[in-house]
Amino acid sequence: MGESATLRVARRAAELKAQGVALADLGAGEPDFRSPGVAVEAARQALADGFTRYTASSGIPALRQALAAWAHERYGAPWSAGQAVVTVGAKAALFQLALALFETGQEVVLHSPSWVSFDEQIRFAGARVVPVATHGADGFRLHAAPILDAVTERTRAILLNSPCNPTGGVIAAEDLRAIVSHAAERGLIVISDETYERFSYDQPHASVGALAAEFPETVVLVGSFSKTYAMTGWRIGYLLGPAAVVQAVENIQSHATSNPTSFAMVGALAALQGAQPAVEEMIAEYRARREMLIPRLNQLPGFCCQPPQGAFYAFPDVSAAYRPGRQGSVEFTEFLLEVARVAVVPGAAFGSDDHIRISFACSRATLLEALERIAAALA
Ligand code: PLP
Repeated sequence: MGESATLRVARRAAELKAQGVALADLGAGEPDFRSPGVAVEAARQALADGFTRYTASSGIPALRQALAAWAHERYGAPWSAGQAVVTVGAKAALFQLALALFETGQEVVLHSPSWVSFDEQIRFAGARVVPVATHGADGFRLHAAPILDAVTERTRAILLNSPCNPTGGVIAAEDLRAIVSHAAERGLIVISDETYERFSYDQPHASVGALAAEFPETVVLVGSFSKTYAMTGWRIGYLLGPAAVVQAVENIQSHATSNPTSFAMVGALAALQGAQPAVEEMIAEYRARREMLIPRLNQLPGFCCQPPQGAFYAFPDVSAAYRPGRQGSVEFTEFLLEVARVAVVPGAAFGSDDHIRISFACSRATLLEALERIAAALA
């Protein structure tokens, strides 16, 4: 396994910061907001009450119940509490799903560019990703036809991430339905990583939760408290899906991490039940940053960027700004780090060397500062 490229940039950025360099850090996919007060208070109380022992490996019953109720309320999904597993972040949910479902020789169809860990996790399980290109010209939309065209007799699953990290691309409800119904006919699993489900700026989010009643053996929903509630360090994610898949993941989790941290789950439950106003405020702020950032990015020489439909990343094509010495997304990212003192992530980490990923999970002041520095470095 290679090191996650996003973590490598974060480490170099941290090194520079430790040397006292004032970086404009647009690298991390991590909300700059504080975790909701209700979550902090509930976790603090749980600690004070001595809720510090092992819990059931699949998570505390109250949170599993609340996740099932939330999926029902939001999407009409029929999952029971027993079909919800609380995991150590969405990352562990996805990793454990890969280990539970995939074998050597199998294929997983996945749109590209895509988040760095999907490919590594699937390869670790012995299977192979079949990438399906998405395109900047239409905002990296996820279309059903090319994804279904990539299905072969070796395909075990289709993996979707809408809204997508790094592109901000989303899937329309009719494309999602076409993929899921086709997958159901062929006995495939559709894993839907909906980590960014709340960040869909231009249309309602299309979730596999809405198809779970019709296709109960086909869809698996993966989610996270990290981005929605600005709770990255708490490490609480989850999945909901068919009982057999859930059981397999539970078995793996019981040997891998045991339960997610007891008091962090109490905090997550409080966030789910009481932090929706805080979430709405954060979403409004991300939207405002997007409105501010994208036109300004397009004014930079050699930058071309469609507004992301979701998540909190801009994914501009910067290939027209490449020159000898800053050729390709990795060299260009290094140039931005060393010359402009701006941290971003090279598109190559996600499967496109023409792009860089710019996170707008940072203050508007930081974004404006970064834009100025990039403009000066390119001048
Ligand atoms: N899935 C996607 C698409 C992500 O971008 C991330 C985090 O960056 C994750 C999953 C993992 O999130 P968590 O913090 O819940 O492990």
